[in-house]
Amino acid sequence: MPETAALILDRLEAAYPDARVELDYTTPLELLVATILSAQCTDKRVNAVTHTLFRDYPDARSFAEEDPEIFQEAIRSTGFFRQKTKSVQACCARLVEEHGGEVPADLDLLTTLPGVGRKTASVVMAVAFGQPAIAVDTHCRRVSQRLGLTFSKNPDIIERDLAALYPEERWSTISRIFIWHGRYTCKSRRPLCEKCAVPDLCPFYQDSGA
Ligand code: SF4
Repeated sequence: MPETAALILDRLEAAYPDARVELDYTTPLELLVATILSAQCTDKRVNAVTHTLFRDYPDARSFAEEDPEIFQEAIRSTGFFRQKTKSVQACCARLVEEHGGEVPADLDLLTTLPGVGRKTASVVMAVAFGQPAIAVDTHCRRVSQRLGLTFSKNPDIIERDLAALYPEERWSTISRIFIWHGRYTCKSRRPLCEKCAVPDLCPFYQDSGA
């Protein structure tokens, strides 16, 4: 099974040489804020908002100290703007109080920040800090299930299953490639199996009788 898992990732990596995180950012703080804003929202919409947001709020203190009503308006178009305002401002306040305004490069510390779940923390660790971390979002979960790399629906267990199948140095690649594959090929409703690089290794495809 680890050999098949490795082959799957090899082929998908070759199929998507330009796969990347599509949120715009230049610092770990910007990626953290953009990832919080991306819940239930497209990356394109988030990028349209953060284009000016990151200019107006250059550090954690400026996010934390803004009037919540003004901040809500600034991020309104990303949806769930009241909850996202609370999350971003509480998270940034904690960064100021306990981490000198910096984002800690530590998965466990990141998950203690208000509004930061394990998926968001893993994105920041893997993408901003280049550390081994697996971010299991809805795409990564679906792709992992269809490819038979996990039998669980629970993101924490899926993360554990993937971590057991792949060496640490490939962890950050897994989520980048699986998220891209899920977004553009292995789509939720109608997967584009005819364009897929791994149908011969895919139990979901084989079971579909194609
Ligand atoms: S063969 Fe189809 S279902 Fe399987 S991974 Fe590829 S796109 Fe997804």
